[in-house]
Amino acid sequence: MIEDVLPLLLEKKRFVITTHVRPDGDAIGSQLALGQFLRKLGKQVAMINNDALPDNLAWLPGADAIEIFNSSVAHHEHIGEADVIVVVDTNALNRVGKKLARPVKNSGALKVLIDHHTEPETWFDHTYICDTASSTAELIYELITAHNADLIDSSIAQALYAAILTDTGSFRYSSVTPTVHRIVADLLERGSVAPAAVYAALYEMRSPQWVRLLSQVLDTLTLRFDGVLSYLIIARRVLQDTGGTTEDTEGFVSYGLAIEGVRVALIFTETLRGTKVSFRSKGDLHVHEWARAFGGGGHRNASGAFIRRPLEVVIDTVMASAPRYLGLSDDEPGNDGVLSPEDADYLSTLLDMKSQQ
Ligand code: 5GP
Ligand code: MN
Repeated sequence: MIEDVLPLLLEKKRFVITTHVRPDGDAIGSQLALGQFLRKLGKQVAMINNDALPDNLAWLPGADAIEIFNSSVAHHEHIGEADVIVVVDTNALNRVGKKLARPVKNSGALKVLIDHHTEPETWFDHTYICDTASSTAELIYELITAHNADLIDSSIAQALYAAILTDTGSFRYSSVTPTVHRIVADLLERGSVAPAAVYAALYEMRSPQWVRLLSQVLDTLTLRFDGVLSYLIIARRVLQDTGGTTEDTEGFVSYGLAIEGVRVALIFTETLRGTKVSFRSKGDLHVHEWARAFGGGGHRNASGAFIRRPLEVVIDTVMASAPRYLGLSDDEPGNDGVLSPEDADYLSTLLDMKSQQ
């Protein structure tokens, strides 16, 4: 809780702040805002991530202070000798990243979680979490204002505003409440934030190749289960042909969800090591349990999983498990997922593991 975490932040001296792999606007915005707040309080702060930040967030004031973990002695010392490590916007060690997870876990520092995802792991010493918050940034805002709202300057305000904007799909998800708009109004005033300029910096710096990539991905649109589910496919070949990156495909999933009648939209992204599945849903049809069945997780209406299997197998496997998570019976029209015995085995092992948890 805030009463638990704030005194700790005020009392301790040396901090490391980190966030999840493939960081998004909420991850970076929350990290920067918290880091700048703590520096204003005279703290030593290192912001160290597993992965580089995407190009469309590099303009955020202070973003160049974020370091990428490089296994150097200096980084190991920062992490090992910190009083507190704050993890923002993820509650799972494997999302902290392959390189960074072990040093973070092994550090003698107090581990603090500030986050809005469901089902936190239990290795944190203190948490400030709320799984109905629109964003982690909303919680960082509450934390700063609980101490001294006057510390919100233009750069903290821009970081928090960009974080809330991106994590709410530009204020359109069901997580958007009057409180979110009040926070945003306060940020606009305190930081003289220019919404059009922030939006343009985040979303309107695309290349023609990006639009070509989008067009090829939209071409893969498939509807299943009488139009309740849609999916899109991002094949490696398409990325290679258009010169696009998986970063560029952030947000594509919303097109699948834009179709009338669709309640769940998926994107399958093919990578060298396996297939990433993005799950999105509307309203009270939740997808986090479905993602968890495949070793992933997330929010009720936005989750993800990485499955170490080839694209076609993952599509079949996820489709075969769809009736259970869509609340349909197995013989629903359109459920013709034909699995090899090996993949059927794999699926049933996953689902069994899930039901034993
Ligand atoms: P996306 O589909 O945009 O990559 O992820 C949507 C949400 O799902 C993220 O905000 C994150 O919370 C969650 N998520 C994505 N991939 C994973 C994963 O591999 N493991 C877990 N636990 N959560 C994930
Ligand atoms: Mn978030």
